[in-house]
Amino acid sequence: MGCFNLGADIVQIDAILGFQANKCYSKEHNHSLGIGKWMHEHIFNFLNEIQKQAAREKEEFLFSTEGAPCELYIPLLGTYDSRRDFFPTSITQQNVPLFNYIYHPYILGFAGLGYPDMDAPEGLFLKAAQIITEGFFINLVLGQRGKMTLGLNKSYDPAPCQAEALKFIKLCIQVQRDYARDYLIFGEMLRPVAMGNVPTLKFKANFNPWPFREGEEIHSIEVPAVLHSSWRVGPQKIGHILANYTDDYQEPILKLVNYNSSIMPVRVQCISIKGTEVIAEKMLLPQKIKVKMEPRSIMLVEQLQRISAKEIPN
Ligand SMILES: [Zn+2]
Repeated sequence: MGCFNLGADIVQIDAILGFQANKCYSKEHNHSLGIGKWMHEHIFNFLNEIQKQAAREKEEFLFSTEGAPCELYIPLLGTYDSRRDFFPTSITQQNVPLFNYIYHPYILGFAGLGYPDMDAPEGLFLKAAQIITEGFFINLVLGQRGKMTLGLNKSYDPAPCQAEALKFIKLCIQVQRDYARDYLIFGEMLRPVAMGNVPTLKFKANFNPWPFREGEEIHSIEVPAVLHSSWRVGPQKIGHILANYTDDYQEPILKLVNYNSSIMPVRVQCISIKGTEVIAEKMLLPQKIKVKMEPRSIMLVEQLQRISAKEIPN
């Protein structure tokens, strides 16, 4: 409450991941011993009380936690802090944005762009592309001299390409606020459509999350030059977000599909900051389309079902 009183708009309790409670055997506390329903009830009441107190002090505020929250607390949280790391923590483990796949329409999330734990300057661009395509807000986590860092050796030295990375991050935020807002802020995440015709880039990365120690093994991982995700807004709008984080032109081929049993044709259009290009007014799906992307660009491919049933072709 002190932070809200000092004027902060967002307050986060860190390190209680997702507001999990630890089991407790203290006889001095007002709860049953060990694990029990009290764990959820106490945290719920605590969050509820904060909401009530903050609402008395401020018109608008957000309360946040580190890590994906338990769904029971979603109504009492304004946002959450996701540590979205691109790299798996072992050679057999790969991260997927499962929480966003299920809960994205119900709670806003943000993810820090700091120390992507890789050896290439592309790391910053790649991580920004990952954060935006997974439907998070970007926040910057800064290292030495207030600059973004690659973080591989935990020196927190400034990464190269600060200005270019900042430009790309600004583009990501602009896209989120503008033409992709409905999808990336409020949309329902879908299983992504198949994408081809995109080269993969190889990065060296630290698979051991924290902290990196001298002599630790560095692995390499292959990542597509374009990251993408698919979203639904209401019954008639599907959008695919493509992020080309490389400094090359890319021409990904997307296989558009119907996500329901509809056989109605869709309008397909590509939107970038340069404008809208209609690919087809009436396209029957499934269908492959080729998308031309400029270096370090974000594209929204929309498939819009807005044609009435009587227009279905024979
Ligand atoms: Zn206790």
